[in-house]
Amino acid sequence: MLIKLFKMRNRYLDFHLSSSRGRIAKSFKISFFPLIFIGSIILLTLSALIVFSIFYFKSIDDVTKEIEYNKEIRENVDNYIKDKLGELKTNINFANPIKHKEAIMSQGIKDGHSGIDIVTELRDNVFASATGKVLYSGSDSIYGNIIILSHQNNFYTFYGHLDTILVKPHDFVKSGDIIGLAGESGIAKGPHLHFEIWGEDGMKDPLEMGVQIEDVNNYKDEDAQK
Ligand SMILES: [Zn+2]
Repeated sequence: MLIKLFKMRNRYLDFHLSSSRGRIAKSFKISFFPLIFIGSIILLTLSALIVFSIFYFKSIDDVTKEIEYNKEIRENVDNYIKDKLGELKTNINFANPIKHKEAIMSQGIKDGHSGIDIVTELRDNVFASATGKVLYSGSDSIYGNIIILSHQNNFYTFYGHLDTILVKPHDFVKSGDIIGLAGESGIAKGPHLHFEIWGEDGMKDPLEMGVQIEDVNNYKDEDAQK
């Protein structure tokens, strides 16, 4: 059976179901009004879904942004660290969060990317870059499993795309402690650590704060010179 013909006549759609020999087997009419009614419901449902998904993803992303910018959520842990260590260092040094000797930086800080990406092996250890306290550990729509640590002098470090989180909020961590395992959770092409350092006045470049990692572009330049 084929729907051979449908045409608009007055306020009806005429359907003629016919056999392959062309004889009309059945014809029926559907009124326009139910069609418009059902069509509008489908359209409304679809647009509601689109609006919901935009707000849903935005709201999860906002969790990260909120911690990043909301000073009330931030906490000054200077006294806490001083209690734990007996004294506060005058200068805070940020160590490599990945110590795999072949780890390489695939992307640095640029517009739309507020951290560095360190390509590593799946489930490679992720180390606390400095001594501090776990401010947040949980999930984010873009960065997957994340950890945020608070450090002295209002510094914060952010670790994204983790495979496994090994710490919980309020844990005390020393520089070099293993806090998680690297992965590709969230939106990530392959295992890598997305790492950020936040200062009181905004984003800091980890490479200017003590982190030492080879940039993949340096290799490309060397190849180009050969
Ligand atoms: Zn990244």
